[in-house]
Amino acid sequence: MTDKACKNCRFISNGPVCPNCKSTNLSDDWSGLIVIMDAASSEVAKRMGITAPGRYAVRVR
Ligand SMILES: [Zn+2]
Repeated sequence: MTDKACKNCRFISNGPVCPNCKSTNLSDDWSGLIVIMDAASSEVAKRMGITAPGRYAVRVR
């Protein structure tokens, strides 16, 4: 339960650096989980501005 969400791109990892955008601005206060398998063909990914496959938080505080 050490998963953290990136405040910059919402990518979920176990830190301390976001593997997606290299930001260290991570939060453990997040909710909702979206798994993106194929960002190019996902409407949800497009709407959220996601370009790489992975797990993402819906909301990050
Ligand atoms: Zn990030």
